[in-house]
Parts: sequence; C-alpha cells; structure tokens
Amino acid sequence: MWIASALYADCVTAFLPIFISILTCPHCGRHTEAQKPTDACQHFRECPHCGTLLKPKPGDCCVFCSYGSVACPPQQRARMVGNEL
Ligand SMILES: [Zn+2]
Repeated sequence: MWIASALYADCVTAFLPIFISILTCPHCGRHTEAQKPTDACQHFRECPHCGTLLKPKPGDCCVFCSYGSVACPPQQRARMVGNEL
C-alpha cells in the first residue's frame, strides 16, 4: 500500500510542477510572489519593490534557482531523477 501512495506522490509532483515561487530580493530583502514559466527558466527579473534587476547566481540557471522558494521546473525534474537513481 505504501508503494502505491509513493508512486502517486511522484506522479503528482511530476505532472503538477509548482507554478508560484516566492522570490527574495537580495537588495531590499522583500518577497515577491512570481509565477514561473512551466517549461523554461527566467534569467532576469526586476524587483518591483526597489527596481533591482535580479540575476542568477553563478552556477544557477535562473533567478528562481537563486532567489526563489522553489527551483525552476527543469531543476525540479533533475532532482527527481537524481532521487530515483
Ligand atoms: Zn528589491
């Protein structure tokens, strides 16, 4: 039974990536709720509070990876694959 529920959880995560991420501005420290593109990375995003242009940190593929509460969809998939192996 626990196997079935684990598989179900995997399916839910796989088909329903998280669309909303909370970005934390490194300049003013305020939070912005941002909708993510489901199948792509967003490299730049302007903080609506202070106007700072957020850029990904070195090694991160997009601002959601660097400043978001959840990683971007490709990163989520990569982590899932990594967990399965
Ligand atoms: Zn800001």
